[in-house]
This record gives sequence, C-alpha cells and structure tokens, in this order.
Amino acid sequence: MRGTVLYGPRDVRFEERPEPEIIEPTDAIIRTAATCVCGSDLWPYRGDDPVTEPRPMGHEYCGVVEEVGGAVRNIKPGQFVVGSFFSSDNTCPICQAGYQSRCVRGELAAPTGAQAPFIRVTLADGTLVATPDLPEDDLVPSLLAASDVLGTGWFAADAADVKPGSTAAIVGDGAVGLCAVIAARQMGAERIIMMSRHEARATLAREFGATDIVGERGDEGVARVKELTGGLGAHSVVEAVGTQESMMQAIRSTRPGGHVGFVGVTHGVEIPGQELFFSEVHLLGGPAPVRRFLPELIDLIWNRKIDPGKVFDLRLPLEQVAEGYKAMDERRAIKALLMP
Ligand SMILES: [Zn+2]
Repeated sequence: MRGTVLYGPRDVRFEERPEPEIIEPTDAIIRTAATCVCGSDLWPYRGDDPVTEPRPMGHEYCGVVEEVGGAVRNIKPGQFVVGSFFSSDNTCPICQAGYQSRCVRGELAAPTGAQAPFIRVTLADGTLVATPDLPEDDLVPSLLAASDVLGTGWFAADAADVKPGSTAAIVGDGAVGLCAVIAARQMGAERIIMMSRHEARATLAREFGATDIVGERGDEGVARVKELTGGLGAHSVVEAVGTQESMMQAIRSTRPGGHVGFVGVTHGVEIPGQELFFSEVHLLGGPAPVRRFLPELIDLIWNRKIDPGKVFDLRLPLEQVAEGYKAMDERRAIKALLMP
C-alpha cells in the first residue's frame, strides 16, 4: 500500500509502505474509511517540531475492522469503529478516572500512521468504539471528526466547566475551536463568544451556535470579551491554539473563579507566576481523553443531533495528501478530509 510520510519541512510524500500487520495480540487492523490532516500535523510540517527521520503521519481515523489480535475480545472484524489518537486500556486507574489520553499503558494509537489505507491500532479493545451499524456515507466525516477535533473540543469545553446558562469564550477558530462551539452549545451555554477574524470560520461558528464574534486579538480581544460579560470575563474559556498570545488571551479573558480548558499543543508558552497567582482561574488541559467522550459523541452523530463533519471544507483523494497539508498551512482550508 501507499501511505503518508513526512521527510522534513513541507516535504510530504505519499509512498510505498509495508502493509501493517498484527504485532501485539491486543492490536487491530483497520481499513480506513476516511482520514484527515490535523492542525497539530502542521507543527512538524512547518519545521516548528524537528523531523529527524522520515515520519509516518496521521492520527485521526475511522473505518472497518479487518483483523484483530488473539487477545482482543470486544472489537470484531467487520465492525465500523472510531478511535482516539492515543490508545488506552480503559481499565487502569487513570483511564477509570476519565483521562484515557494518559493511560499507563497508552501509546500512539496508530503507530504506522493513519493517513494510509490500512492502519494498525494498539490496545484495540480499550481504544476503539464501534458504531451501532455500518454508517451512511454522509455520516463518515462527522465520525472521523469524533476521533480528534470533536473529542478535543468537547474535552476543552468540559474542562472549561461549560454548563447550562454559562458564558463560554473560545480562542482559536480552527477545527477544534469550532467543535468546542458545538460542545458548548450541547452543554447548554447561553452565550458563546468565538474569537475569529476569518469570515468563513466565523460563519461556521455561528452555524454551530456562536452568539458573538470577536475579531480583536491580544489585549483588545480581552477587553472586548470583558465588555460582553459585564466587565468580568467569561466563566468558561477554551484555548485551542497553543501559542503564548492565545494562552494569555484565554487566561485574561476568564473571570476570577472561572475555568480555562486548554487543548492547543503548547509551543513556547510561559505563564508568569504572579499573573497566574492573581488570575484565580482553574486551568485544565492537555491531550484530550477523547475515549471518555466517544460513546456520547457517536450517539449524537448517529442520531444526527450534531454535524461536526462540516469542519471539513476540503475533500481530496488520499494520494493528494500533500495538497491537504499545503491548503491548511496556507489557511485556504479549515481541515482537509482524505478519502482512500
Ligand atoms: Zn489505562
């Protein structure tokens, strides 16, 4: 088969790769129904994360189980499954507490790279969740979104303590930030402020349930959020970028006693201690425990209550994966869907 490999900055190749095989008895092999390019794939693509050797790419996937290892009990060949980017046994104390992304046995869920027609998934029983049946084709993009961006946006909103009647502000108008709008809406937020200066993204945010769009950034953006919240700041703020500016914008937009859910992979972020101390906010973030939310998210998608697949505004055959990276890097696309 051919799969996606990153050789260095802006050097994505779709090239011949060994077909994945069961290695551990807890593995499964998935035939990919759809995969995609993640905003976090752009860090190594842009050279912000060093690439020291050719790296198989992709960690978002859904598809049909081809084969399972001898120790896999619950997942069966023929099932359509969605899984997270980190595998989890779903039984250790950390998993039981709902933090499957830090499972004591966890590793990359798709070490062979998910931007490929076949994928080896580790710890299949704890990682994968089967859909009730084979999905209609039009549900596939939304199920794929559940494997990362929706699950991550959901975790961010949950970590930011979004609840009925609350005000949520979202820093970052990428796919995760947009999915956090869906989550905040489902969790009953009354007011959802999306910080965006990109027209197409702001329009989609409104469609997902955003009530206010703030185009200003930095101190001006913070001032605008305060203006919209009676001078206090929002109770719930989602940080979905990972830069110094976005993190400080999120913390400063949060009212004392409020909550920041941060899910942008941080790069060069340093929080001044004094400001942290006097901000009096809750901070919770990290790689999202998508597995915790998957059953609920699959149910909402299956019953057509949410349509996160709309974040995919570019569809390409998998072999054109390099164009998917380029379009996202140049912000011509929010997120590129790749079809094998
Ligand atoms: Zn675990």
